[in-house]
Amino acid sequence: MSANHATRRLIGGWRRTFSANATLKRPSTGRATNAVNSVQALGWTGRSVFALAASAGVVGFGFAALTLDGSPKRTASLFDSEAPGPRYGSVKEMETAVEEIRRELERLGEDEDVISTNADDLLAHGYSEWSTVNPDGLPVAVAYPRSTEQVSVIARICHKYHVPIIGYSGGSSLEGHFSAPYGGISVDFAYMDKIIQLNKDDMDVVVQPSIGWQDLNTQLNQANSGLFFPIDPGPSAKIGGMIGTNCSGTNAVRYGTMKDWVINLTVVLADGTIIKTRRRPRKSSAGYNLNGIFVGSEGTLGLVTEGVRPLFHR
Ligand SMILES: Cc1cc2nc3c(=O)[nH]c(=O)nc-3n(C[C@H](O)[C@H](O)[C@H](O)COP(=O)(O)OP(=O)(O)OC[C@H]3O[C@@H](n4cnc5c(N)ncnc54)[C@H](O)[C@@H]3O)c2cc1C
Repeated sequence: MSANHATRRLIGGWRRTFSANATLKRPSTGRATNAVNSVQALGWTGRSVFALAASAGVVGFGFAALTLDGSPKRTASLFDSEAPGPRYGSVKEMETAVEEIRRELERLGEDEDVISTNADDLLAHGYSEWSTVNPDGLPVAVAYPRSTEQVSVIARICHKYHVPIIGYSGGSSLEGHFSAPYGGISVDFAYMDKIIQLNKDDMDVVVQPSIGWQDLNTQLNQANSGLFFPIDPGPSAKIGGMIGTNCSGTNAVRYGTMKDWVINLTVVLADGTIIKTRRRPRKSSAGYNLNGIFVGSEGTLGLVTEGVRPLFHR
C-alpha cells in the first residue's frame, strides 16, 4: 500500500467514525431540557446535593481512619507502647538508662559527672531560635562524653532501654536537626574538640567531632602548616554536625561540600559498636562507600567520634 493510499484510508476511517458517533454531536436544546426535567423529577435540589456530598465525605473519612486490617488507625504518641512504628522507652526507662550510664562510666574510671539534667541545658539542646522548626519535646538528659569508648557505653545502654540518641555539635543547624521530639539523650561532643594528629606531608588531619571549622583553620595557621580547610557553613558549626548535615558554605562552588572532605570516620553505631569507615591513605580506595552513607545522615545511623579530613594548600 502506498503512503498516500494509507493516509486516505485513515482519514476516511476517522470521518466514518465521527459521523457515526452520536455522542460527539452537540445535544439539541430539547434534549438538555429533558435532562433538567428528569433531575427535577428525581427531586434533586441544591440542598440534597450538598447533603449527599457531606455524607460521602464523612463515610470516606471513616474508611480512611481504618487500617487495612480493619482496626482504627492510631496517631503515634510519645511513649505509647502500642503505637505503630518504633517504640521508644518510657520516661522511667530513660531515667533508668541515665543512672546506668552514670554508674558504668564511674566504674570505668570517669571522675566527672558526664550527664546533665539541668533544665537550661535541656532547653539549649532541644530548642533553637535559629531553627525554622522546633517540635515539642526536650531531651531528658545531656551527655558530655570525653572519648569514643564513652560514647559507645552511652549508645549501648540507650539501645538496651530504647532511648533515642541525638548528636549535638555546634547547634547551628537550621531545620530542627537536633530537636528531641521523643525525649532521649542529647550527646554533646563539647569535650571532644581536639586535633589528634596533623599529617602535613599527607595533607590531612585527624580531628574530634567538636572542633569548629574556624578553630581548625586557626590552629593550622598557628602550626605554620600552609594548609587550610575550606568548608565554611555557620560560624559556630563544628566538624561532627557538619558531617551530620553534609554542609556547604560560601566556598562550596570552588571546593565542594562536606562529603568531598571526608577520608575516614570513626562511628559509634546505635548499639554501641565502634566502626571505621575506611583507612587513612587516600590511595586505598577499595570497599563500600561507607562515608557516603554517614555524611548527611543527621546522626540517624551513628555518631561520628573522629574523622580524617583532607586539607588544601593555601
Ligand atoms: C549564619 C549561618 C549560616 C549558615 N550557612 C550555611 C551554609 O552556607 N551551608 C550549610 O550547609 N549550612 C549553613 N548553616 C547551617 C549550619 O551551620 C550547618 O548545617 C552546620 O553543618 C551545622 O553544624 P553544627 O556543628 O552546628 O551541627 P549541629 O546543629 O549540632 O547538628 C547538625 C546535625 O548533625 C547531627 N550531629 C551532630 N554531631 C554529630 C556527630 N558527632 N555525629 C553524627 N551526627 C551528628 C545532629 O544530630 C544534627 O542532626 C548556617 C547556619 C548559620 C547560623
